[in-house]
Amino acid sequence: MRCHYCEKAVLGANPITLAGIGPAHDVCHQIQLTSARNFKGLDIAQLDDVQFNELSDLVMMEKNSRVSSLGQASDSFEIELF
Ligand SMILES: [Zn+2]
Repeated sequence: MRCHYCEKAVLGANPITLAGIGPAHDVCHQIQLTSARNFKGLDIAQLDDVQFNELSDLVMMEKNSRVSSLGQASDSFEIELF
């Protein structure tokens, strides 16, 4: 059996089986998903400008919320030091 992407043998190299495609290396599949701009089943390249901006805003909001909760965690850690 050979990898769908690189065509090297998959035996002994953590192969995965892709529905409708066949065997592939997990690494080759991840590279393919990244280069296709596909994340968790969402094809980012297929979004229109409005949808893409909404996604971008959501990512930024989530990023900001995670940064501020990290800041609180480090503040409490500093308090514990004293
Ligand atoms: Zn491969």
